[in-house]
Amino acid sequence: MTTLLTAGDDLSAATPDPASLGLIPRPARVELTAGQWTLKRTARLVARGPAAQEAKTLADALSLPLGWRIPVVRGKPRNGDIEMTLTAPDAQLGAEGYRLSVTPGMVTIQAATTAGLLYGGITLRQLLPSAALGTERVAAASAGGWSVPAVEIVDSPRFGWRGLLVDPARHFLPFEFLKRMVDLMALHKLNTLQIHLTDDQGWRLEIKKYPRLTQIGSRRAESPRHGDASLGDGTPYGPFFYTQVQMRELVAYAQARHVTILPEIEMPGHFRAALAAYPEFSCTGGPFEVRTRWGVHSDILCPGNDHAVAFARDVLAEVIDVFPSRFIHIGGDEAPRERWKACPKCQARIKAEGLTGEPQLQTWLNSQIERFLVSKGRRLIGWDEILEGGLTPGAAVMSWRGMEGGIAAAEAGHDVVMSPTTHCYLDYAQAKQAGEPESIGGFIPLATVYGFEPMPPQLPPGKQRQVLGAQGNLWGEFLWTPKDVEYFAFPRAAALAEVLWSPAQARDYADFLRRLERHLPRLDQLAVEYRKLDPRPR
Ligand SMILES: [Zn+2]
Repeated sequence: MTTLLTAGDDLSAATPDPASLGLIPRPARVELTAGQWTLKRTARLVARGPAAQEAKTLADALSLPLGWRIPVVRGKPRNGDIEMTLTAPDAQLGAEGYRLSVTPGMVTIQAATTAGLLYGGITLRQLLPSAALGTERVAAASAGGWSVPAVEIVDSPRFGWRGLLVDPARHFLPFEFLKRMVDLMALHKLNTLQIHLTDDQGWRLEIKKYPRLTQIGSRRAESPRHGDASLGDGTPYGPFFYTQVQMRELVAYAQARHVTILPEIEMPGHFRAALAAYPEFSCTGGPFEVRTRWGVHSDILCPGNDHAVAFARDVLAEVIDVFPSRFIHIGGDEAPRERWKACPKCQARIKAEGLTGEPQLQTWLNSQIERFLVSKGRRLIGWDEILEGGLTPGAAVMSWRGMEGGIAAAEAGHDVVMSPTTHCYLDYAQAKQAGEPESIGGFIPLATVYGFEPMPPQLPPGKQRQVLGAQGNLWGEFLWTPKDVEYFAFPRAAALAEVLWSPAQARDYADFLRRLERHLPRLDQLAVEYRKLDPRPR
């Protein structure tokens, strides 16, 4: 295992190349200066007010490898200390930026927000030897011997939405794994975790008003078989779901790491698990089973039925109560409209509302949902199919079928998150060698993710602010276990993190790979099951 700098390294001979620090994502500005700072047993974290909470987070993170806890104190810093300070609003740093100054005398982290202080602390942890990310006590560190090179960093993200999606609807992910993903995201300065809580193959969130959603919807008779997903494996699956108590705990855990949990409740399509529990909210009345194969299915929510629309609102009322995110994701993708064509209630709704067809019926449903969300102070976001019948006024779009939907929405003044299948589908294969795990198909190697440009060049400057950022999606059909999720996520999520955080003009794949070689030992410390880099041609 390689480590960047260990105690006893001759730092006076350190190369002045910032890439040698292995920082990912690459900071906006890094300048190596002379000397080094050593983390001695006498070091303290000096912080007051809200900054003290971030100082405690940093002290907690370092306490396992150090084997002692850096005390968090108020007052004046002394030689050897780390000082964390909240400053006045600072245009250069924005909402999440920070300044990190390491001199032989002390370390200072300044930011205008607690999020910025967290990110400054994460950069400091990356500057320490990789073992500083681990949970094992390190003797050299314990004795007060870890050093970092003197450096001046001024850093802030390019985009405010830096996301990943996980999909426990297809293959359930243990609650503790969601926390681990939050930790791994924070390490890469990613800040939004979308959880795909419902789909045809499972309903994974406790809803108190509709208990059958989890009693019936969280289990299925069998699952697609490993190696041939057209066949069943014959093994009952579930019940698997998250309680509201668990999700509140996750939200708090994520908030402490400045990660937003974005819940996704799919409607009107990808809705079979809900209809298995409550078939009266379909167009035909059912009965239905929770799906045991992947794909798109015809039976979806009936927007002609007032009770079905009320059901959707009731579910979202509980979702809003658990998740404080500004946006609520309502899916909206892959909703075949053939049942609506044949449904008297849906056709009556189209007529009564003066709609021109089934795509507009989906827009009408979205407008009902959006009005409800707005009344609760939230905003609607959905996949780009919600554009088809016309977007509701405040809706934001997650553009997955290429960039076009996102461009159209941004031009019309809507907020957009880019997540195209060409670059952001991290469940696609990342290599073609023998021995790669089964996947849903596609091919998105690390370099392709790194080459992603979320900002469409044709978007006029006045509309560019509508592009909030981008998201990598780890759909779960072929991600059977948490280990699979980690393998598909990393190191591609590290590349996406740099796409979203670092200045566009600073992007350089060869430089990224050199830094990644320093970064992967950090993931080793955390036992992340990432895909190893291919040998580089010499
Ligand atoms: Zn209907």
